[in-house]
Amino acid sequence: MALLVQKYGGSSVADAECMMRVARRVHKTQQEGHEVVVVVSAMGKTTDNLIALAKQVNARPSDREMDMLLSTGEQISVAILAMALHSLGADAVSMTGPQAGIATDDAHTKAKIMAITPDRVRENLDAGRIVIVAGFQGITPAFDIATLGRGGSDTTAVALAAVLKADVCQIFTDVDGVYTTDPRIVPTARKLDEIAYDEMLEMASLGAKVLQSRSVEFAKKYGVVLEVLSSFEETPGTIVREEVKKMEDVVVRGVAADKGQAKVTIQHVPDKPGVAAQVFRKISAARINVDVIVQNVSEQGYTDISFTVPQDDLQRSETAMAGLLEEIGAKGVTYDPEVAKISIVGVGMRTHTGIAERMFGALADNSINIDMISTSEIKVSVVIKRSQADDAVRVLHEAFELSGE
Ligand code: ASP
Ligand code: MG
Repeated sequence: MALLVQKYGGSSVADAECMMRVARRVHKTQQEGHEVVVVVSAMGKTTDNLIALAKQVNARPSDREMDMLLSTGEQISVAILAMALHSLGADAVSMTGPQAGIATDDAHTKAKIMAITPDRVRENLDAGRIVIVAGFQGITPAFDIATLGRGGSDTTAVALAAVLKADVCQIFTDVDGVYTTDPRIVPTARKLDEIAYDEMLEMASLGAKVLQSRSVEFAKKYGVVLEVLSSFEETPGTIVREEVKKMEDVVVRGVAADKGQAKVTIQHVPDKPGVAAQVFRKISAARINVDVIVQNVSEQGYTDISFTVPQDDLQRSETAMAGLLEEIGAKGVTYDPEVAKISIVGVGMRTHTGIAERMFGALADNSINIDMISTSEIKVSVVIKRSQADDAVRVLHEAFELSGE
């Protein structure tokens, strides 16, 4: 007998028919002799719709009330799923996050789980019940309901799996696993049998939106084995787990694209200590997430500094730059809102050489110009024109022979 935590995302529980499908799957799992805890998201686009509704009555709704509102989406799901299971003759009970013992801090709309007291969940499992927990929510020290940030049900599931010491945390979604790249760009992209936490984190942060990044960090920290799989088909998914030596045999696990970046270049900056610090202090004070940074070779005491920011932050970057130029004595600033970051990811890079060279060569052969480069132990990223992003993904997927047969 294993203890499984199964999480079903919004698209997997979008309507009554989907709910019945999930109920059958959960019931079957229990009948195979397992204990099952189910975490569900709000049905379909419920969360988006609730946000839109709030904005109709208040352009800036309070975070506390927002949580009160958004947490209802998941509450609908747990009750409906419990009813669906009852209709199949299964014994099941639904719980809100607070009822399941999930305590958070008081950072409304982006709360962190502080502790879980899973006694009630455990008792119900012991009584032979399927326990259904509302994802994405918990209770603050002041007994207010709080939500965990968009996509937070993944984190609920992983956290419950960690405290209950579940054998696996299965994330059911509308794709059937993690792919070598986006199959909409490269139809021959291959589903991965397994991927290391660190690789998944890189892919997730690069827009492979199968899992909330925080949930992967959590899984890594507590050694929770994740499986990403389809709620519509009964095929094995992708296992996300601790890296093992064998994983290094594969040099590049996947190619990811982040098409939502913009580039800022500050021209003719005095090349002296403290200037870069001044620039990025200003940027971070404006709560802008800088990604790739490049400082050019200095010429006659001046240099250019370029960096990328999420496209949504470009406006705020422009505001932040306004006062700065004079302050640091720079000549001007240019913006390119149309860039993309393409990355190759793989733990095998730690032990193999010549990867960057192969990457740059493949791009050059296809006349794709590289604007900026950044590397980590398990990743090489390039910033290029956004119009060439899909091409670059195809070229790299091919160059590293990632396709299935
Ligand atoms: N319903 C929430 C959202 O849409 C949480 C989740 O789906 O994980 O972000
Ligand atoms: Mg989701």
